[in-house]
Amino acid sequence: MTVQDNDFDAVVVGAGISGLYAVYKLRQRGMRVHGFESAEGVGGTWYHNRYPGARCDVESIDYSYSFDEELQQEWTWTERFATQDEILRYLEHVADRHDLRSAYDFLTRVTSATYDEETTRWSITTDTGQNVTARFCVLATGVLSATNKPDIPGRDTFGGATYHTGEWPHEPVDFAGKRVGVIGTGSSGIQSIPVIAEEAAEVFVFQRSPNYSIPAGNRPLTGEYIAEVKANYAERRRLSRMSGGGTPNSAYPKGALEVDAEERRRVYDEWWQRGGYLFAKAFPDQTISQAANDTAREYVEAKIREMVTDPDIADQLVPTDHPIGTKRIVTDNGYFKTFNRGNVTLVNLRRTPITEITEAGVLTTNSFYGLDMLVFATGFDAMTGSLSRIDIRGRAGRNLRDEWSAGPRTYLGLSVAGFPNMFILAGAGSPSVLANMVLMAEQHVDWISNCLDYLDEHNIETIEATDESVDEWVAECNEKAAGTLFPTADSWYMGANIPGKPRVFMPYIGGFGNYNTICAEVAAAGYKGFELGERRVDVDQ
Ligand code: FAD
Ligand code: NAP
Repeated sequence: MTVQDNDFDAVVVGAGISGLYAVYKLRQRGMRVHGFESAEGVGGTWYHNRYPGARCDVESIDYSYSFDEELQQEWTWTERFATQDEILRYLEHVADRHDLRSAYDFLTRVTSATYDEETTRWSITTDTGQNVTARFCVLATGVLSATNKPDIPGRDTFGGATYHTGEWPHEPVDFAGKRVGVIGTGSSGIQSIPVIAEEAAEVFVFQRSPNYSIPAGNRPLTGEYIAEVKANYAERRRLSRMSGGGTPNSAYPKGALEVDAEERRRVYDEWWQRGGYLFAKAFPDQTISQAANDTAREYVEAKIREMVTDPDIADQLVPTDHPIGTKRIVTDNGYFKTFNRGNVTLVNLRRTPITEITEAGVLTTNSFYGLDMLVFATGFDAMTGSLSRIDIRGRAGRNLRDEWSAGPRTYLGLSVAGFPNMFILAGAGSPSVLANMVLMAEQHVDWISNCLDYLDEHNIETIEATDESVDEWVAECNEKAAGTLFPTADSWYMGANIPGKPRVFMPYIGGFGNYNTICAEVAAAGYKGFELGERRVDVDQ
């Protein structure tokens, strides 16, 4: 890039599902767009999370872009829940199909973004020494992209190979004959452990909190099924946009306590067969009423005990610290049965915490586990981590880290008061991870694109949430969360997995469809809740 080329209409940070679509859509508007991506290629989550067993947990036919009807008709998913490899190939295909890579500098991390009130432009700097300016700054940095490596004493002294599921190497990892330790039993741990166990000599699962996990019911997709989906894709997408979670699925029409035991059992059996995290939504009151939740919990507990042959191990695998569904239920492929294998050992860190990682393995309060490989499946500094790792300064030097020191504060998840012409995609304050994130990203980008049309039509230079609208939206998000059981769990939704992080329920839990309606109403009312700054007229001309 030459010096004179370094001013853009928009800069997009991130080349995952959100960033790629933002580049596409803004270019469609005729804008000069530049992207930065710290990785070597496109794909975001699906570029980084290459661990064995990685798959989506939203069905592939829904977890895919809807904006390109031809693509939707041409692309054929092979399995109900696609592997990481297949999803990455899909995103690479989308990038090539729409020439999106050409917008990006790869292997380039944005380190700061500063708003200049005089010029009304953003100045963006990178770890490669670049400095570009742009009217709009679009942050598509991901909600599950800043990895969490817990500060366990001796963490960096381990002499064997060390991995984090969210930064998995590109080369195949050979577990054959190896003693492998896996720390963490969230979705990443639970997806990878059965696959690693098939290959490794021994697997030690270091579990701090057991998690609810439901077999995926994964299967190859038949030609007949695919044809039926493709014939009705438009309607499927329409229903998804109106739904609570961005897929065409809906809950049973009655509450768990409104039906008798037999009907309840029938519904749980049906949702168990459907498989995966949707079990959290079998009945509409499951994550609202503790009594309703208990019925789901008891059902799943019994299933875990059926799958695990050793009753003591089964006891330790049954979660007791949170209502079912208030942490994302894992969608697994053979997790609990893996503990019936002779080469898998459960290490219960609640009973015997890790005291130290040494050069040769992991030491707990009562044993030493010699290891050749150590896998950190310890998750992410979710929702805010990728933003707090950038020095973002708005009007009058307002610093995003300070503004969010008590938790993220946005209007509609999209905009922050004091940070004009800056948009955040699919993050805190939006349905985000509670929805199908592909449609979530499309909704955000489409809303922004329409907003920019409005700004152009009305000769408006800047748009920025007001402090009042942020206050009101944060209150609305908190109120919605307080009406559920979610705040009772020590989840990453609450920031509870990161020491010192404020405890705030970060996504908007009022439903994807409702959220879409609210965003549309805000736009229809002339961008209610935003301050619109008119274009300056130069009096000398
Ligand atoms: P990301 O895919 O996270 O992309 C953000 C990109 O920004 C990354 O490539 C990152 O390298 C880059 N970046 C960040 N900071 C900087 C910086 N400072 N400078 C330059 N580049 C930067 N959601 C679902 O709806 N369904 C699923 O089935 C599902 N499965 C998941 C499985 C895994 C293993 C994980 C971790 C998440 C999953 N999610 C799922 C959530 C998933 O993150 C989203 O679905 C989606 O991929 C997010 O896309 P994104 O573009 O918003 O963010
Ligand atoms: P996670 O859910 O946050 O799980 C992290 C695990 O590491 C937890 O078991 C946690 O225990 C443990 N841990 C953290 N710090 C620890 C420490 N110091 N000592 C011991 N254990 C520690 O992270 P994740 O599994 O990567 O999943 C994050 C999210 O990504 C998921 O909820 C999901 O939304 C998405 N995801 C989806 C899929 C999919 O199926 N498509 C797959 C992977 C990820 P505690 O619970 O006790 O904190």
